[in-house]
Amino acid sequence: MCGIVGYIGAKECTAILVNSLKKLEYRGYDSAGIALFEDDRIKTVKAKGKIDEGLMKRLAEEPHFTATAGIGHTRWATHGEPSDINSHPIGNGRVSIVHNGIIENYRKIKEFLTDKGYGFESQTDTEAVAKLLDYNYNGDPIDTIIKTIADIEGAYALGIMFREHKNRLFAARKESPLIVGKGNGEMFIASDVTAILEYTREYYLLEPGEIADITSDGVKFYDIHKNRIEKELQTADWDISAAEKGGYAHFMLKEICEQPDALKKTINPRIKDGVPDFSECGLTDEKLRNYHHIYIVGCGSAMHAGMVGKYVIEKLARTPVVVDIASEFRYRDPLLAPDDLVVIISQSGETADTKAALELANSIGADTLAIVNVVGSSIAREAKMVMYTLAGPEISVCSTKAYMVQAAFMYLLAFRVAYARNAIDEAECRQLIAELAEIPSKVQQCVDDQAQYQKVASKLMSADSLLYIGRGLDYALSMEGSLKLKEISYIHSESYAAGELKHGTISLIEEGMPVIAVATQHDLYKKTMSNIKEVKSRGATVIMVCSEDMKFDEADNDSPVDYPVMLPLARDLLMPLVAVVPLQLIAYYTAALKNFDVDHPRNLAKSVTVE
Ligand code: GLU
Repeated sequence: MCGIVGYIGAKECTAILVNSLKKLEYRGYDSAGIALFEDDRIKTVKAKGKIDEGLMKRLAEEPHFTATAGIGHTRWATHGEPSDINSHPIGNGRVSIVHNGIIENYRKIKEFLTDKGYGFESQTDTEAVAKLLDYNYNGDPIDTIIKTIADIEGAYALGIMFREHKNRLFAARKESPLIVGKGNGEMFIASDVTAILEYTREYYLLEPGEIADITSDGVKFYDIHKNRIEKELQTADWDISAAEKGGYAHFMLKEICEQPDALKKTINPRIKDGVPDFSECGLTDEKLRNYHHIYIVGCGSAMHAGMVGKYVIEKLARTPVVVDIASEFRYRDPLLAPDDLVVIISQSGETADTKAALELANSIGADTLAIVNVVGSSIAREAKMVMYTLAGPEISVCSTKAYMVQAAFMYLLAFRVAYARNAIDEAECRQLIAELAEIPSKVQQCVDDQAQYQKVASKLMSADSLLYIGRGLDYALSMEGSLKLKEISYIHSESYAAGELKHGTISLIEEGMPVIAVATQHDLYKKTMSNIKEVKSRGATVIMVCSEDMKFDEADNDSPVDYPVMLPLARDLLMPLVAVVPLQLIAYYTAALKNFDVDHPRNLAKSVTVE
């Protein structure tokens, strides 16, 4: 789930491993550790807590290490509480491993090995793999790994060291991602390329079922039958500065501010002759005309971007769209057919539930279109068609710019579906695209106007609970706003379709409870206003996020709105792309004012590779 790193080369590697682990902190974790080849032994140092507070303090108590090879890990506990003993690397004197993912049959393996006399110290599933490697060890690491992975079920990326092979590191994976980085006289392993960008841009993507045998001068790859495989070297085009904070207090703030640029990078190359163009992935108008149903599937913010897609596609193309949460879709036996299109949205391209939804859609024969940010990720490779959101790396766990570009993609798709199906003509399609191209500058205006969001945040920071309400597209947006606030400020909030409130939830309103109303849709404005009055008359403090032509006088005591947040005007249909910015910044400033660890919220991981 979280981070794996490894180094083998000529340099002392403790600092390199720790530095690389720090680059993976954004993925969320609760403990960290390293294992080194030191004086013919495997030396392990690990601790519960953040790297600076746990692992670094532990390292400071140790003598200076001279090792030039080792592995490291940030753990996001799935089996056993976060503790020193459950932290990785895990093993015994002979073998040491780091593991991301979940071993489903670990109990069976543990029972088997207990019968053979093995003892277990940790509560992790990982220890079963470490001890099984030890049990299977016959002097040949590749044989041992092949035999071991044949017996384990579940998701894993593994970094492995054997004491008797101090000039080699090994790696294997199924489901969880892993790359092998190639430097000059040094090699790396990592969960993702951001961990090693400082040292090299060249890397190999390890595929499921492949094993890497790594020395300081290179790597050999094997399949599960011990056949050698040749793999293509990839080059990361992400800029190292994209993975640095660059003067911002938090990655989240930096990424919010990068949104105008991310939007341009995603939208502009996909416009040809004034209309959206999907030819890069083979999505033709003929296909778009013939799909029977369109499904959009994702988790968290990606699913919320899909909600925007549903409203926009249905409105423009008059084609029904089903949006589903990936973890529901995969188990609910969806009514899918080969003439349907399933759009799969994931920032990392590794989200376990979303990937399983994609596999299901592929197995039924439906057409699948992946919209992902990470090039070469599992979802990108498994989908029949892929379009990349070109947002650059998103480091903050709380997604902002990735959501923005996913939502922007929904517009491109909606315009093309509507055009292909003759629901709009070319002139209208061009007009929509021209207005979409104006959105980055409006997003920039929001980003530049942060004082009003700080003021709202100062009102929210002491709240225990609040509501987000909206209608239509504003409802889709309020879901995303509520999720942002929950994720990082730990304030309970719920989003409700504004008209639904009086069917139950309004009973929660009491004196001073904040309600954030999103009202950017002019045709629904009066309706939402009535709902605002309903909550105001029951004591709510109302924050209203609305277009700048919906003017309020703050001094007017009769106004039901306590704090208006004004947005630059755009066509109603496009307003989610503008209005999400204040919602992101309100959440950001609320968490920052509360002094929370904005980029690493508790209990959350960036790339959710377990179901
Ligand atoms: N399942 C393992 C554990 O709980 C690995 C967790 C991870 O991916 O960080 O220790």
